[in-house]
Amino acid sequence: SDRSFSGRRALVTGAGKGIGRAVAVALSQAGAQVVALSRTRADLESLEREHAGIETLCVDLGDWDATYAVLSKVGAIDLLVNNAAVAVLQPFLEVTKEAFDRSFDVNLRAVFHVSQIVARQMIARGVPGAIVNISSQASQRALWDHAVYCSTKSALDMLTKVMALELGPHKIRVNTVNPTVVMTDMGRINWTEPQKASTMISRIPLGKFAEVDDVVNSILFLLSDRSAMTTETLPAPSKSIKPR
Ligand code: NDP
Repeated sequence: SDRSFSGRRALVTGAGKGIGRAVAVALSQAGAQVVALSRTRADLESLEREHAGIETLCVDLGDWDATYAVLSKVGAIDLLVNNAAVAVLQPFLEVTKEAFDRSFDVNLRAVFHVSQIVARQMIARGVPGAIVNISSQASQRALWDHAVYCSTKSALDMLTKVMALELGPHKIRVNTVNPTVVMTDMGRINWTEPQKASTMISRIPLGKFAEVDDVVNSILFLLSDRSAMTTETLPAPSKSIKPR
């Protein structure tokens, strides 16, 4: 079988369900030591039961201090997948402070924090690393009721570019994947209505929603040495004005 991730230790956030869970399992099957982080303990317990060897961490990434408490002790990580996110849909005129804060805390602020903790220890150990941030098509396209979600993902795309710029000199690659709709719990809640679904499908060149495995394959490629020269930005212009 494929053991291409042997000797690597990977942290996957939002690994209790959906895409994150599938990434954790695929990495484990490809030989990585996997640390699966999520919010609902029962999901992590079933993951441990079904896949011996996967370690788990239960924390709400919306909580900055609790995240630090758990991850400051996580140990060596070579591969990071920032996958956890929430999609709270509200019409723009009805967006609440709670939905805004929760969405930005989980979808964006936690990516800053988790990546800082992981990248600092990669640099301290002097090892190369790869980080994949799970963004969305919604980062680049306006969608009804998605003002907050679209904004978090658009900000995540830009964060990825700056991380790629600043972490590149430490041999840490940083990339996003920007999937179209996938029928996970999140996908089902937002895209089950037939009219809405068919309009979206009509705009997808391949004429269908993505499967979880399609997204998993792209993530594993970007984590692997097969994408050894792939990182989000073309750093030349900004690098020349790096502050001294
Ligand atoms: P799901 O809702 O199916 O799964 C998300 C996972 O993340 C769950 O295990 C959830 O745990 C966990 N999670 C959410 N919030 C937190 C938190 N605060 N702390 C810790 N864990 C948390 O989502 P998908 O698998 O569909 O989505 C995965 C990624 O892909 C997300 O970044 C999403 O934005 C992106 N994406 C999804 C698309 C889709 O159509 N499904 C399309 C494009 C991008 P719990 O359930 O316990 O809260």
